Amino acid sequence: MADKITQNADGALNVSDNPIIPFIKGDGIGIDIWPAAQMVLDAAAKKHGKTIEWKELLAGQKAFDETGEWLPEQTVTDFRDYLIGIKGPLSTPIGEGFRSLNVALRQILDLYVCLRPVRWFQGVPSPVKRPDLVDMVIFRENTEDVYAGLELEAGSPGAEKLRAFLLEAYGWEIREMSALGVKPISKAGSERLIRAAMNYALKHERKSVTLVHKGNIQKFTEGAFMKWGYQLVKEEFNDVAVSWADCDGKPGSKLLVKDVIADICFQQSLLRPSETDVIATMNLNGDYLSDALAAQVGGIGIAPGANINYVTGHGIFEATHGTAPKYAGQDKVNPGSVLLSGVLMFEHLGWTDAANDIVRAMEATISEKIVTYDFARLMEGATEVKCSEFGSAIVDRL
Ligand code: NAP
Repeated sequence: MADKITQNADGALNVSDNPIIPFIKGDGIGIDIWPAAQMVLDAAAKKHGKTIEWKELLAGQKAFDETGEWLPEQTVTDFRDYLIGIKGPLSTPIGEGFRSLNVALRQILDLYVCLRPVRWFQGVPSPVKRPDLVDMVIFRENTEDVYAGLELEAGSPGAEKLRAFLLEAYGWEIREMSALGVKPISKAGSERLIRAAMNYALKHERKSVTLVHKGNIQKFTEGAFMKWGYQLVKEEFNDVAVSWADCDGKPGSKLLVKDVIADICFQQSLLRPSETDVIATMNLNGDYLSDALAAQVGGIGIAPGANINYVTGHGIFEATHGTAPKYAGQDKVNPGSVLLSGVLMFEHLGWTDAANDIVRAMEATISEKIVTYDFARLMEGATEVKCSEFGSAIVDRL
């Protein structure tokens, strides 16, 4: 009998050896990458005496074709009930109510952490000399910042009204025909994100947490994120962590917490990647950083991700790339992103052995230069295989 994953009073997940896990295959290349990834996840789980009962949920084009809705209520209800799920990419309906189905799911379930681990896997072609030095975990705030969708179009009555109000109330002179947006950064929203990054860093024995911000320019939003972060460390983590200022960069056995201006972070991550470990940052910085860092270790075709609420226990693990419609149904693209998101999900469920096995088998496959088109075009002497064949090759090496 398969079981639902549940959450204990202390927040830990209860996961049996036979859990029910909802999945969304995804639009476009979802039909190619999901079966390949599922085959590998099932084989690795089986090797460790576990079986997943996959429960398909509908969203995106497939949902619209079958139900007339892009995101059926049942899908949201099931993600809520089963706590942990995984999904392929979804195409965004243009001109519909949602800005993006992914954003909608994150908002409805309040998945406030976007978790993006960025590390190099043996054999993966990279544009940098030492991709092996890249091993970072990004905690990107998922619900606030300029992503809150609070924008007014230039010249609209709303924008004009706000412009007039800002002039009257604050003396702010804003040019005519200006589009206006609001960037909310709250204390509670910043704290829960930074708390999650701290707990992760401590649990996984990482060296440091870096708060990435543009507080030099945006003092009351991004600057406050940094300030609240340091306050939180003092109030809640004083016995196990210390800020750079309080230890002169020598934390002893404690976790080091430091901060860096976002633009410098891009430079340092490229020039001295080993100095950055866990990153906690706001939505827009995190979006840019995630893809830039992913490029150093092989690009978005292989970058895993997850959206998590550590308080309610909800998590949706997902491929970080889009639906790449030009390749849909060709059994061609790299299933690495959704597969490694599955690996991240296994780690989150405590299935570390199965997760490690998949990583080892994938590295063995790539080291033998058995790769999909995206890596084949960057490697000399590669054997280009189909998406499904890449999955089978990993299963063979489990
Ligand atoms: P995309 O689907 O991510 O594709 C951009 C390019 O990335 C592809 O042309 C391909 O590069 C490469 N790529 C993506 N996935 C790959 C994979 N699995 N293996 C190898 N290469 C891969 O971005 P897009 O074309 O801008 O977006 C298409 C649709 O996806 C849009 O409707 C967008 O809204 C949606 N989207 C969804 C999500 C999500 O569900 N999380 C995220 C982003 C975008 P080459 O052409 O160089 O081979």
